[in-house]
Amino acid sequence: MATSTAVVWFRRDLRVHDQPTFLSAADAADRSLALFVLDPALLTPSGAARKNFLYGALRELDSALGGKLLVVHGDPADVVPRIAKAVGAATVHIAADYGPYGRERDENVEKALADVDAELVRTGSPYAVAPDRVKNGSGDPFKVFTPFSRAWADHGWRAPADTDASTVTWMDPSDKDGGPRAVKIPDDETCESQLPEPGESAALALWKEFLDGGVDGYRDRRDLPAAQGTSGMSPYLKYGCIHPRTILADTASMKSDGAGTYRTEIAWREFYADVLYQRPDSARENYDKKFDALPNETGPEADEAFAAWQEGRTGFPIVDAGMRQLRAEAWMHNRLRMIVASFLTKDLHLPWWWGARHFMQLLVDGDLASNQHGWQWTAGSGTDASPYFRIFNPITQGERFDPDGDYVRRWVPELAGVKGKAVHQPWKLPDGIPDGYPEPMVDHKAERQESLARYEKVKNAR
Ligand code: FAD
Repeated sequence: MATSTAVVWFRRDLRVHDQPTFLSAADAADRSLALFVLDPALLTPSGAARKNFLYGALRELDSALGGKLLVVHGDPADVVPRIAKAVGAATVHIAADYGPYGRERDENVEKALADVDAELVRTGSPYAVAPDRVKNGSGDPFKVFTPFSRAWADHGWRAPADTDASTVTWMDPSDKDGGPRAVKIPDDETCESQLPEPGESAALALWKEFLDGGVDGYRDRRDLPAAQGTSGMSPYLKYGCIHPRTILADTASMKSDGAGTYRTEIAWREFYADVLYQRPDSARENYDKKFDALPNETGPEADEAFAAWQEGRTGFPIVDAGMRQLRAEAWMHNRLRMIVASFLTKDLHLPWWWGARHFMQLLVDGDLASNQHGWQWTAGSGTDASPYFRIFNPITQGERFDPDGDYVRRWVPELAGVKGKAVHQPWKLPDGIPDGYPEPMVDHKAERQESLARYEKVKNAR
């Protein structure tokens, strides 16, 4: 009997463990071709950090598969059917994508596959509970996080899939007959940030370290950016080097407050994926349309203010430290993401989407759902009940969450000689602001009032 072949098309699931697509491919055919498509539509807008992390994760995946990962370049609707045809595959196995671009791409691929008598088989997703599954009593999606998270936990999820590289017999890609040309995984691009080690092994090692040493204390330490109090799993979750199901299974029996809080953070990720699925327009536009009436600054002065924020020279040490960490590590602590986003939208009155775009350029974990909705949460235009008038004070935020000033001193060398929490208000130092560090670019109290005045327009909008 002839050998049957399937295709396993990797996208945001760059791992071999807990991989349900392997099970469906192994059920469907004797052997599978492992495929990754370098899609210009996704690569072009990604910054060097995300591209390099992706390339590193692909190299590791290729080695886990015994060098049998086929990498091609092009529009998936064009190349995937040509590959299916070249290897005679009747099925192409994927984990479903729920983002706006991914959904459309997969629908196009599905149609094109039908022309070569092949089928797109979706098994699993990057989430423990896929978007659109958790609904309220009336069958509608949740608009607020807390009830969502309760229903999400009640819904539950599958146990991790028991897979490794040997679950599937991998076809040697050089045996394919024609079809798109194989390309090399690209070399790393020049990147000014120091990135975490990419790939599944690094994800599992970091996760184990956090599980053994960090998760129990997570609730107490997660808001202190000077402490290594969070897991650092976000880039690995973004590229599926680990699945949230594994994380949830490993913490399921842990009763500590830290473990409970950690599971809630995983629920936030799933909530935002659900919101984006329900409202794809919220990737670019205000979720709450009333915020269309909010006047934002634009023009040359706004551009200058934006550049000062991007470069970490606002004169507010906690804001500048966060923005400089972003450049140096392509990552920023969650507390800082909120502080710098509040500063951009409520002290500088700039549109949240400017900041969101800058984050997406630089972040190694840049994820459309979490990023755009994290920004909208802070701007006040998002799903949450978070009131617009919650305006973060960059001085008190610094003093509260970086009480000894260690985080600021780490990232702002001009202030390295200032002791303790005095670092949060350098303009009050007896000898004045240290050389090279700027004056505060705005008066926070005045801008807070300005923000509240602008908000009146939103309140009265229909
Ligand atoms: P941990 O505290 O260890 O949390 C564990 C995991 O839970 C994270 O890896 C993440 O997957 C999830 N998580 C935690 N907090 C949130 C949250 N508020 N929303 C959604 N998921 C969460 N997260 C991204 O993954 N990509 C982004 O592009 C992104 N942009 C953001 C932009 C803004 C303005 C804000 C306020 C938040 C953003 N977040 C984003 C959420 C959060 O800041 C990061 O997930 C977190 O800092 C990643 O570090 P960690 O893995 O150590 O987190």
